Amino acid sequence: MLHVQESVLEINFKALQQNFEFLKSKTKAGTKMLAVVKAFGYGSDATEIAKYLQDELNVDYFAVAYIREGAYLRAAGITTPILVLHPQLINLKHAIAYNLEPSLYNDRILTAFAKEAAKQGKKDYPVHIKFNTGLNRLGFFHTDAPHVVQKLKTLSQIKAVSIFSHLAASEDANEKTFTQNQIRLFNNVAEAFEKGLPYKPMKHMTNTSGILNYPEAHFDMVRSGIGLYGFGNDPKYAKNLRPIASLKSVISQIHRIEKGESVGYNRAFVAEDFTTIATIPLGHADGINRRFGNGVGSVLINGKKAPIIGNVCMDMIMVNITGIRCDEGDEVIIFGEGQTAEELAAKVNTISYELLTAISQRIKRIFLR
Ligand SMILES: *Cc1c(COP(=O)(O)O)cnc(C)c1O
Repeated sequence: MLHVQESVLEINFKALQQNFEFLKSKTKAGTKMLAVVKAFGYGSDATEIAKYLQDELNVDYFAVAYIREGAYLRAAGITTPILVLHPQLINLKHAIAYNLEPSLYNDRILTAFAKEAAKQGKKDYPVHIKFNTGLNRLGFFHTDAPHVVQKLKTLSQIKAVSIFSHLAASEDANEKTFTQNQIRLFNNVAEAFEKGLPYKPMKHMTNTSGILNYPEAHFDMVRSGIGLYGFGNDPKYAKNLRPIASLKSVISQIHRIEKGESVGYNRAFVAEDFTTIATIPLGHADGINRRFGNGVGSVLINGKKAPIIGNVCMDMIMVNITGIRCDEGDEVIIFGEGQTAEELAAKVNTISYELLTAISQRIKRIFLR
């Protein structure tokens, strides 16, 4: 194992491959896999992740949230189709320039995109039509399907290569009835398209938890984000999915302080006894939320838990290492082996997604192949 000498986010491609293969094994042969690489590949590194998924794993599709994210992937040599989940009107011409496929989620964006495609002389430009079946976030209302079909028939410059929807509570067994109703409504949308159009768009609906919990909603393609990065939102899958990212750092300095001395800003920690503390080069600017301070979060040093004490600074945290054998320069694990990002996130009542995507770009990414 690598011994780090500064803060790094280690990305393990072997784990990515295993997660990909596990998720694939959950779908029927022929079901396409879309890898969600928005938000810098959930904080890991979108272009390196996308290259690996494209070149080594033959992924079928990518999705990003914004056009700018897709443009970066194209500039890095990604040629696989890219669905842009949440395009904005102002950038639509760039979507076409970078060969990105927009999600069209209301009349306003459908009309604007059709106009832009016509202006650029396009014919059958691939688009994806998003339907709202209950999440109430983005999408044409499910009952609008016949109206959207009629409109698409008049627009030869674009072609709906897929129709899709998004589940609101696919990880929550208590919301099974709600989810099944979303699936039923999406099937109605699909029926309107299959009746009304001379061709058959692909259908897709499930995110990672949907892949794991609702095989009846896999349709032609599934969309995985968090699962590829190693989390299944359910302890049941912990043995099948492996987190791909580990956040590691080092001890910059050790201080030994007496009873009554304080540590950090606002003197938020005051020693009750002789205390040994270590300063770690990572702070709230790196995605270590201030809520982790004052003993809420901890890191691992030589396998032992060292609580974060006092307030989290912008570039540093101080941890209590009293009783832990360690030296300046020793490795520190923030999440990875021994403490997952999901477990650490739970300490501040959030989810792995938020902790991972918050890891700052100034932290070096290291790729283990
Ligand atoms: C982010 C996103 C996903 C991925 O969800 P995971 O839970 O990370 O698998 C899938 N579909 C849509 C529409 C999304 O916005």
